[in-house]
Amino acid sequence: MTALPHNGTLYLEDYEERIVAINFFNRLKEDFHRVENTFEDAILPVTTITSGNGREVRPDIYCLPIQIVNLCYIGDPGSDWILIDAGMPGSAEKIIETANERFGSRPPRAIILTHGHFDHVGAIVDLIKHWGVPVFAHERELPYLTGQSDYPPADPTVDGGLVTEMSPLFPHQGIDLGEHVQPLIPDGVVPGMADWRWIHTAGHTPGHISLFRDKDRSLVAGDAFVTVKQESLYKVILQQREISGPPKYFTTDWQTAWDSVKKLAALKPSAAVTGHGLPMEGEELASSLKMLAEQFDRIAIPAEGRYVQ
Ligand SMILES: [Zn+2]
Ligand SMILES: [Zn+2]
Repeated sequence: MTALPHNGTLYLEDYEERIVAINFFNRLKEDFHRVENTFEDAILPVTTITSGNGREVRPDIYCLPIQIVNLCYIGDPGSDWILIDAGMPGSAEKIIETANERFGSRPPRAIILTHGHFDHVGAIVDLIKHWGVPVFAHERELPYLTGQSDYPPADPTVDGGLVTEMSPLFPHQGIDLGEHVQPLIPDGVVPGMADWRWIHTAGHTPGHISLFRDKDRSLVAGDAFVTVKQESLYKVILQQREISGPPKYFTTDWQTAWDSVKKLAALKPSAAVTGHGLPMEGEELASSLKMLAEQFDRIAIPAEGRYVQ
């Protein structure tokens, strides 16, 4: 296969893959129009080669990719645990099945949300019904989780590929969890996670948080930065590992997002689970994150876009 030059919107490596992706994208649009893009029906027919294959990043940190997003189970198998984020719409069964395998029938002590985008809260209603446990999020994220606000719509004018182009089809509506969701207390303590602290990493959304454990410098970053070019369908499907800023089409405050990445880089994490992409560790993480923090304007911020000043 002969490589063709990138045309700026399609991040594909050659002609054949480009055709496959265009057909795929067209099918996807048809599917989305069929379900009229309501939140409950937003079962994205996109998946990655790693979907469903979880991995232990640490003995008590289990990362589960479902379709295009990661969930994180924190806790030693068989003991108390916490769930971070709630995955894609329609994924509750898989999330619960994995929990049962790892922790028996013991419900999590709480569910912590890094933020409220549809691909991080997709199964939350089903999980609350099943486990009846409290959900915590940053107080600045609560308007989107209690039915008061919608997120701004995705911006398809940022660069980066087919996921960006399909992003206007992604739901940006807030959800209403009512009294089931509570604000995190401001001192960084994470309910049920004694040796972890939460860090406000706004920019991608106003109340975005990451979670950090000082003892072994483990980081759960959410979408503050990710390890795959989330805008590129091709790279998402193959889960090509590459440090990247927050997903461009949904990020609304780029200067704050840069400050958040600097904050996380200063922690010098030894391992990171991000909202999208494969976990990253060691020297690869150290050098990539340093580069991202220094060159965020070149690597992460779109050349132009609705939310770029
Ligand atoms: Zn997000
Ligand atoms: Zn995300």
